[in-house]
This record gives sequence, C-alpha cells and structure tokens, in this order.
Amino acid sequence: MHEFERQQLLDIIKKKGITDEKVLDAINKVERHLFVPQIVKQHAYKDTALPIGQGQTISQPYTVAFMTQELNCKKDDKILEIGTGSGYQAAVLLEMGCKVYSIERNYDIYNKTLKLFDELDLRAALRCSDGTIGWEEYAPYDGIIVTAGSPSAPERLIKQLKVGGKMVIPIGDKSNQVLNVILKKSEGETEIKKYPNFAFVPLIGIEGWKEK
Ligand code: SAH
Repeated sequence: MHEFERQQLLDIIKKKGITDEKVLDAINKVERHLFVPQIVKQHAYKDTALPIGQGQTISQPYTVAFMTQELNCKKDDKILEIGTGSGYQAAVLLEMGCKVYSIERNYDIYNKTLKLFDELDLRAALRCSDGTIGWEEYAPYDGIIVTAGSPSAPERLIKQLKVGGKMVIPIGDKSNQVLNVILKKSEGETEIKKYPNFAFVPLIGIEGWKEK
C-alpha cells in the first residue's frame, strides 16, 4: 500500500542529502500512515511533521532519516530513544535491526503507542517516565536519540552512553534548536558536531525544560 507515495518521499529525502542505504531502506519499509491519526493520514507520506495529539508531533521524515544517519547504528546495537511519541522513529530503528528502548513522558501517548506496537508486533521496550534521567537498568547504550528539544545535553544520558557511542540531541530554545551529534570519546571527553535549524517540541523533565 502507498508504494508510489513512499517512493516519492524517498526521492525527496535523497535529494535533501540522505545517502545511507540502510536508512533509506528502513524509511522505505516502515509504513508511516500506521503511526499517524486518521485525520492526517492523507498527509502521511509528505515530508512534514504532523500532529499526533496532546500538542505533540511525529517528526518530519527527513529529520528522522537525518538523525538516524548521524546515529550511525548497526544491527543489534542497543539504542535508547527519548520521546517515543507515535513510535515511528522507534519503528525505523527496529527495521534497521537495533534493539530499541524508548521512553515517553506523556501517559496517553505512551499507552496508545504501546497498543500499536502490540498490534504491529513491533518489539521495543517502552516505558512511561522522564527520559532525561535515562534508563539505567539497560545501560550502557551504543546510541541515544533524543527526539525533543532540550536546553542542554542531560548529564545522566551521556553517562549511560558507551565509550565510542553517539547521542543525537536537538539543543536550543523552545522554538529553534541546533542538532548536536555528541561522540563520547572517553569517560569525560566528548566531540560534538552541530547542525542548525531544527524545530522540535520541548523536552520536559529534570534535565530538560521545567513544566509550566
Ligand atoms: N520520536 C517521535 C517524536 C515525538 S515528539 C516520533 O517518531 O513520533 C517528542 C515526544 O517527546 C513527545 O511525545 C513528548 O511527549 C515526549 N517528551 C517530552 N519530554 C520528554 C521526556 N523528558 N521524557 C520522555 N518523553 C518526553
């Protein structure tokens, strides 16, 4: 289903600079229309963010592809995602063969996505809590992907990253962020690449923005 539209979407993200075949293949396979509410389904294969309820959004496909490409994950890598949302990004990582641990703070969103993953037989570990404190039990992770905008890089998350692992996180103010790709070179030493002009919903938590 939707094969023609998915192909068009792939062409768009390739033109925007996504070259990693494994990422393109995963974006091609994951059916984004299954992850969005009925009311916006006709837009599922457009390269835009869409509302998923509770004032939250499913990220733009290009952004998902770019973050996944920067994460540079391999099959069987253990990946921690902060901000499960619709579950689309997690599904892309599962399609790439990663072991996915994903945290969502909003209970209604968490519950909906838990049910969807059960229906689609998507096997990720989902948890409802404040992701800025990470998920110590399964640490360290090969990669961490934060899909909400943060005022800074949460220390606890860097601690839960393996040496040699990467954390991809948008950092900035509430309306505009710079995507930071943080390579953990050793305990206490990081190297950061930065890509400007991203817009995510806020990361709310102990090491994120305070709730109003
Ligand atoms: N990866 C998602 C993007 C969802 S938008 C997708 O593919 O659809 C970001 C999500 O982060 C929202 O659902 C929001 O509720 C959640 N969020 C915000 N702060 C959080 C926190 N501290 N811990 C976990 N989730 C958080």
